[in-house]
Amino acid sequence: AKRQGRNHLCFYNRTLEHHQRVDVHLRNQFQQAIDQERLQLFYQPIVHLASGNIVGVEALMRWQLNDGSFIAPDKFIPMAEATGQIIPASQWAFSRACEDLQRMREKHPDLRVAVNLSALQFHRANFFDSILDTVASYGLSNNSIELELTETILMDDSKHAVALIEKFRDAGFTMAIDDFGTGFSSLSYLKQLPVSKLKIDRAFIQEVCQKSSDEAIVRGILAMARQLDIAVVAEGIETAEQAVRLTELGCEFGQGYFFAKPKPLDELLDDLT
Ligand code: C2E
Ligand code: CA
Ligand code: CA
Ligand code: CA
Repeated sequence: AKRQGRNHLCFYNRTLEHHQRVDVHLRNQFQQAIDQERLQLFYQPIVHLASGNIVGVEALMRWQLNDGSFIAPDKFIPMAEATGQIIPASQWAFSRACEDLQRMREKHPDLRVAVNLSALQFHRANFFDSILDTVASYGLSNNSIELELTETILMDDSKHAVALIEKFRDAGFTMAIDDFGTGFSSLSYLKQLPVSKLKIDRAFIQEVCQKSSDEAIVRGILAMARQLDIAVVAEGIETAEQAVRLTELGCEFGQGYFFAKPKPLDELLDDLT
């Protein structure tokens, strides 16, 4: 737990430091993948539940080895955060996402792309300007971009983080909290964050139709989000039953294998026709 400022923001459930032993071979391989532009972005649709329409896509990084196998993001993202390689990898990913969004928008003019941000990247000087420059250089407007944040972004310097989130929001970006429900201490905490969207973690969706406690949590999050005028995306929807239930509960957006798995741009473009 950590306290900061008057508001006593508390964080549970998370170790503050990555005590990660970095596999040197993996790190070197990842550096090559960055240098040779062999990283990829996959896109997973985000749908408006009541209509089934695709409203956006989340960009998810993929790293494929020469033998064709994929290394899981849960493995290489933490490593890249520990080594700092997440910075160049994220810069590449953000530019690629903007470039790809231009192509998607030829088929779906108001589609938006959601990008995951890491804490290291977020707290770097010039981060705001570099994002703005990149978006402008692709001729996109800021409101076509959603930035997904996790609570690790608020751990290091929450005052700075809140101010920066506000700055992005005022510039037109949609600021979203990712994995909601897993790390945040209290609902009141959300009130202090200038975000306009939250994504309910898959952990609460998985058994939403079986466990009344999970349904109660989802109901609670939805009621609170409504009060605060925050849009909600349910993550990890895998069955029709879950999609129906979440729609009934009043959840507006959803994402998950039931709708589509993350896929390369070309396959996504086929879906958009
Ligand atoms: P996340 O941001 O919470 O992304 C959602 C993850 O859930 C993705 O895993 C996605 O493939 C997976 N998923 C989506 N629908 C379902 C479903 O119905 N069932 C199940 N079981 N899983 C589903 P992925 O692509 O392996 O990424 C894992 C994490 O790695 C992401 O979690 C995110 O925290 C991180 N990550 C991925 N790409 C990037 C990136 O470009 N930058 C940063 N900073 N982090 C990234
Ligand atoms: Ca995410
Ligand atoms: Ca998530
Ligand atoms: Ca996650």
